[in-house]
Amino acid sequence: MNCFEIKDVNYTVKEQHILNNINIEIPEGSFTVVSGPSGSGKSTLLKMIGSLISPTSGDIIYHEKNQTSYSPQEYRQEVSYCFQTPVLFGETVRDNLKFPYEIRGLDFDEGRAQHLLDTVGLSGFIDKGINDISGGEKQRVALIRNVIFMPKVLLLDEITSALDTESKQEVWKFINKLYSEEKLTIISVTHQVDEIENATHKIIIENGSVVNYES
Ligand code: ADP
Ligand code: MG
Repeated sequence: MNCFEIKDVNYTVKEQHILNNINIEIPEGSFTVVSGPSGSGKSTLLKMIGSLISPTSGDIIYHEKNQTSYSPQEYRQEVSYCFQTPVLFGETVRDNLKFPYEIRGLDFDEGRAQHLLDTVGLSGFIDKGINDISGGEKQRVALIRNVIFMPKVLLLDEITSALDTESKQEVWKFINKLYSEEKLTIISVTHQVDEIENATHKIIIENGSVVNYES
């Protein structure tokens, strides 16, 4: 089954064509890597799949239904978008990991939060201030916030591009573990060669058009 079908999608801003007639299928359970030059439209495509922006024309089909037919809450809970620069809020790591429980009206499962922090090399970080941790640590906290309630799809926009080698490895170890254990579908925008090796599908975008699609 296809997780997504992107059909004749265009995105135009002030008569500038940012994406041109995109037609791709993303199979359920695939690990798709999207690469291509800077400014080619990779983030725009990923944001559209994550429903952060809407296509000017064309359709995005998710699990055989048009993206527009889902409620925003339902869609966000299934399709989780991770920003290149993590955005943390509140004062502590705990504030960020409690948030997904708060919006669902559930009690915070601190044990689960601690367990996930342990998994990414952040044991004992739960009460740290968000201004007292490094960029690599913030990215891992943001990632845990995205998956503490496991989504079905994880959209990653160059999430390790600004990180040091050690943080990068921690993040990829965690993502590979999620991919192998949770039956996720992952779409990842990247330039990193080691990540491309893990891909089951590859899409190359240039100038707003898909120039190569390999499965
Ligand atoms: P990539 O992620 O591949 O580097 P982007 O998807 O961020 O590329 O951007 C593709 C092109 O579209 C760039 O030229 C960018 O400046 C332009 N662009 C993206 N969003 C907007 C917008 N809202 N308004 C104007 N231009 C935009
Ligand atoms: Mg980008």
